[in-house]
Amino acid sequence: MNLSLENKITSLRLVTILMLFYLLGYFLKAFFLFDKSFIELISSPIARTITSVFSSIVASSALLVAYVHKDQLEKIIGTKYKVFKYLPLVMFLFDVMMMLLILDVIKSKVFRLCFISVLYAVCGLLLISIFKALYKQEEVNIKQAKAKVEQKEAEEKHKCVCGVGFPTKKQLSGHQGRCKIYKEFKNN
Ligand SMILES: [Zn+2]
Repeated sequence: MNLSLENKITSLRLVTILMLFYLLGYFLKAFFLFDKSFIELISSPIARTITSVFSSIVASSALLVAYVHKDQLEKIIGTKYKVFKYLPLVMFLFDVMMMLLILDVIKSKVFRLCFISVLYAVCGLLLISIFKALYKQEEVNIKQAKAKVEQKEAEEKHKCVCGVGFPTKKQLSGHQGRCKIYKEFKNN
């Protein structure tokens, strides 16, 4: 039986494509709301479109990046930022609110303006937190790599004739007391 269709349906590639569509939808919804809200503030259509495009890119990509890095972020920063724990719920609520605002179910202008302000602020907070966490992680990685190199150098310095290396001279002497190869080597 040819399962190529089934394999395609369950593939990561398909999920990625669908995720991009979802993200595009998120972007368009956010763009619509930002553009609508900037009408009275920014009279130039070009300036308004540019502002709305960048605002919605930030809003949609911040949510995606935060979601993709969610588990890693929780590991790095712990439960300090509750927003990561509730991220799926936050994304869901934002999505529902955007749809309700676009479909004019919620007509209040004040609510719309408050909502996009909150949306933008949360996305900004997410991006800054992600940057901070990843930067911290990178620092830790560099430190670990450096420590590993230093340990290797030390082991190279304190090496027994049997080939085993040790971080300190004391540990090498301790090993040589028990090492048969070293004893044979010494007796010859
Ligand atoms: Zn040895």
